[in-house]
Amino acid sequence: MTRVFNFSAGPATLPESVLRQAADEMLDWRGSGMSVMEMSHRGKEFISIHAEAESLLRELLGVPADYKVLFLQGGAIGENAIVPMNMLRGRASADYIDTGEWSKKSIKEAKKYCKVNVAASSEAGGYVSVPRRETWKLDPDAAYVHICSNETIGGVEYHWTPDTGEVPLVADMSSNFMSRPVDVRRYGLIYGGAQKNVGPAGVTIVIVRDDLIGQALPITPSAFDYKIQADNDSMFNTPPTYTIYIAGLVFNWIKAQGGLEAMEAHNRKKAAVLYDHLETTSFFYNPVTREDRSLMNVPFKLRDESLDEAFLKGAQARGMVQLKGHRSVGGMRASIYNAMPIEGVMALVEYMKEFEVGHG
Ligand SMILES: *Cc1c(COP(=O)(O)O)cnc(C)c1O
Repeated sequence: MTRVFNFSAGPATLPESVLRQAADEMLDWRGSGMSVMEMSHRGKEFISIHAEAESLLRELLGVPADYKVLFLQGGAIGENAIVPMNMLRGRASADYIDTGEWSKKSIKEAKKYCKVNVAASSEAGGYVSVPRRETWKLDPDAAYVHICSNETIGGVEYHWTPDTGEVPLVADMSSNFMSRPVDVRRYGLIYGGAQKNVGPAGVTIVIVRDDLIGQALPITPSAFDYKIQADNDSMFNTPPTYTIYIAGLVFNWIKAQGGLEAMEAHNRKKAAVLYDHLETTSFFYNPVTREDRSLMNVPFKLRDESLDEAFLKGAQARGMVQLKGHRSVGGMRASIYNAMPIEGVMALVEYMKEFEVGHG
């Protein structure tokens, strides 16, 4: 068996030890005689799996007691509609910060449910930075302020938490969730799909402050009403049971690595290997403003785009896959989530050097 270095933006690479444990437990989960995917979500076995996943997440992230943790379906794209449905709370508008492709999608969807005020945008500069907080034109009557904490396609990440005063801050953290410590108190709501840093696709994690739920628009589907789901321990409908199980194994793995502080240190080290190399060459480049560069997704281009195909082919031959950039921006993108070992990043940089010597 050969495992490749998988730089996919998502669904993405998972810790090998997690996959091995899942394989070991596939046919018989801890003497139950069943696979996790065959269990009733209301049986005691799965209830214990669900409770452990939630308690590990709460412990790792330090989620305060007055926040609910929900395991839902629909993905972050689903949340683009579900968030305004739940969070407008009688208000007419919401503020959105536009930092790239994913913010744009959130804005477009929210417009179906409310007036959207784009309080700041980095579009004019080509989405290569996070607009400074001083430039944001926030509305004090907005229902919430929405940000995308890590633009997975553009490779732009917030390395600071915006202060939005009394107006709740809402963050799409799909692609940097659990990659570093977060002060949950600074947010009204955090959401993210699992398939970047947490597990297989299928579960959407929502962390929301108690006082913000219970005022969903009447049109909100019951399965997407945070209050109904909170009152039912995320089991108003059948939750994505197997994905929740894998997420729990991943949380255990993060804990064994030393928790989120250790995760961040590891992620900083990995990203530095790649960004430091990009600083030394003009054969490749990354357009993102230095202080806003993502630790999770590193887009880079070859100055000579006619070499793109040869670069990807050579990478594949060396066991490095999924490096092709998103179709909207082209070039390359190395996604280096929690589970990407530093050896993968070092192998990529070695290959970039070799390729430059061969073609520069
Ligand atoms: C991947 C991603 C999404 C989309 O998630 P789906 O599971 O496809 O709904 C949304 N936002 C961000 C920041 C992402 O990285």
